[in-house]
Amino acid sequence: MNNLLKICKKVNQTPVRHFFGATTNLQQIRENIESGTSGHLPLTILSEDELAMKETVARLAREQINPHVRDMEKEGKFKQSIVDMLFENGLMGIEISTDLGGAGCNFMTTILCIEEIAKVDPSIAVMVDIQNTLVNNVIKKLGTEEQKKKYLPQLATNMCSSFALTEPSSGSDAFALKTTAKKDGSDFLINGSKMWISNSDLAGLFLVMANADPSSGYKGITCFLIERDTPGLTVAIPEKKLGLCASGTCMLTFDNVRVPESAILGEYGKGYKIAAGFLNEGRVGIGAQMVGLAQGCFDATIPYTLERTQFGKSIFNFQGMQHQIAQIATQIESARLLVYNAARLVENGHPFIKEAAMAKWYSADVAQQTCVKCIDWMGGVGFSKDFIQEKFYRDVKIGSIYEGTYNMQLNTIAKHLAKEYQN
Ligand SMILES: Cc1cc2nc3c(=O)[nH]c(=O)nc-3n(C[C@H](O)[C@H](O)[C@H](O)COP(=O)(O)OP(=O)(O)OC[C@H]3O[C@@H](n4cnc5c(N)ncnc54)[C@H](O)[C@@H]3O)c2cc1C
Repeated sequence: MNNLLKICKKVNQTPVRHFFGATTNLQQIRENIESGTSGHLPLTILSEDELAMKETVARLAREQINPHVRDMEKEGKFKQSIVDMLFENGLMGIEISTDLGGAGCNFMTTILCIEEIAKVDPSIAVMVDIQNTLVNNVIKKLGTEEQKKKYLPQLATNMCSSFALTEPSSGSDAFALKTTAKKDGSDFLINGSKMWISNSDLAGLFLVMANADPSSGYKGITCFLIERDTPGLTVAIPEKKLGLCASGTCMLTFDNVRVPESAILGEYGKGYKIAAGFLNEGRVGIGAQMVGLAQGCFDATIPYTLERTQFGKSIFNFQGMQHQIAQIATQIESARLLVYNAARLVENGHPFIKEAAMAKWYSADVAQQTCVKCIDWMGGVGFSKDFIQEKFYRDVKIGSIYEGTYNMQLNTIAKHLAKEYQN
């Protein structure tokens, strides 16, 4: 049995759930919870199972992913043994129930896992993010019993997947997509193309948005489950990118791809709701990726500032440096709190769209600032490919682009603000 499943099993048998964090007075918190004097827990206080998972994943990332990060980036693909390790440890099916082969954890745990992995490799983090926050979750929440039984065990144990919405002519304006799904007897024929599809080099399953009734505009958009070996589906070679170089981002073409009606995921004509709704959750995952990336870059840099001496003292000891370092540390923590808050809102079924957009926008912005500053603090060596900061600096740029650009997040936030103030 894998590590995470073992932990989950152990925790599920624990009758009383204690909540704790690394720097917390545990006894006091327990007393407060038991006496009812503290109705609200700080956002950074995790449950025992969440913390156990976070620590396990941090160790796996450090010991098993970290040694291969540079080679995977150079080769432009993930090492198969790392992908296998993710499956073996339940990281590709974090919220899938244990009876279907998953780890049976909550959304917050997914967020923590993405954060921990991104500290070491943001490319692996995005694979784990898309598999868990998008594909698995859509199937789990909207799939038929047959679809769940068929796909969730594979997704939890051996099958990577992709979420295919973007097309060459529709990015931010996602619902202008041109891929069609034409009814042909009891089947549908899918024609069109998708662009920038993460994980598609490895994916065995694609969630594909196609318009089954273009005359109805976006209300014709329908979500289809399409297996990789379906005739007519072609996956191009991965794009050459600025960052996330190990993550395979490919173009897909659909040439009369025939799928049965049972391949529809969710309701016919409701694909736009699926795309919009689940991408809101996905954004919390990207926020976690950005927080992890920022923390990873910061953690790799501060020891250098403590060791490097100029003018007879460590460069950390200059007040000009300390103020910048303190400011970035505070911004990373603020971003983390926004992400954790959005995750808890999702998990508890509260409205979260504005908070998810804030979390994604802010954490991407803070992560960018962090990488720029870390390179500044390293001086010339920060500019060298021998140090990990330059990789984080390239990887971080994606945070302002995918799962909704900066402007699109700000549009969402402003739309919500307008509503709040008009009511
Ligand atoms: C590495 C990578 C991985 C990706 N993975 C996936 C994936 O797995 N699945 C998937 O479906 N897609 C994926 N994408 C696509 C990604 O989500 C889109 O690139 C993104 O949504 C932006 O679309 P676009 O590139 O067409 O840019 P455009 O929409 O053309 O935007 C260009 C610029 O115009 C601005 N803009 C556009 N409209 C407005 C507006 N209304 N108001 C203000 N500004 C506006 C944008 O903010 C941006 O600055 C990925 C992209 C990359 C680069």
